[in-house]
Amino acid sequence: MTGYQHILLAADFQDDSARVAERAKELASRYEARLSLLHVVENMPVEPGNELMIPPTANVEQELLNNAERRLRDLASRLSVADGDHEVRVGQTKREIIDHAEENGVDLIVVGSHSRHGLALLLGSTANAVLHGAPCDVLAVRL
Ligand code: AMP
Repeated sequence: MTGYQHILLAADFQDDSARVAERAKELASRYEARLSLLHVVENMPVEPGNELMIPPTANVEQELLNNAERRLRDLASRLSVADGDHEVRVGQTKREIIDHAEENGVDLIVVGSHSRHGLALLLGSTANAVLHGAPCDVLAVRL
């Protein structure tokens, strides 16, 4: 099997995301690959029921960004990921993950398999969308 050189962990900070992170870290160590982290702040936050919240003010958006950056820095430090290798982007989650992978020569994307949006689905909406649009291999860690 060909080794991976650049692994991207899509981090959503959910309770079970530590398992996904551990798997990405383990693979990066095994293949001596570069490990990058990405978290996406959605343009318009949605509640679990998929209902739109009131459009956020600039302050709320800035606060969401600051919070996401702080959490991603903490995760990067726990996983020994280099300073330049973690990024918070604003936009549509699946689009940003795929764009990030294309722009940075990622050859494996690691995501969690679950869905917060419907327990009946085998793959969550993000994992499913990434799997179909990715320019590289995708590992959906079963949650
Ligand atoms: P979902 O399909 O939304 O339940 O999410 C499945 C997986 O997609 C998560 O375990 C993460 O790996 C990834 N993911 C979901 N939301 C985000 C986000 N905002 N930023 C980065 N990755 C995410």
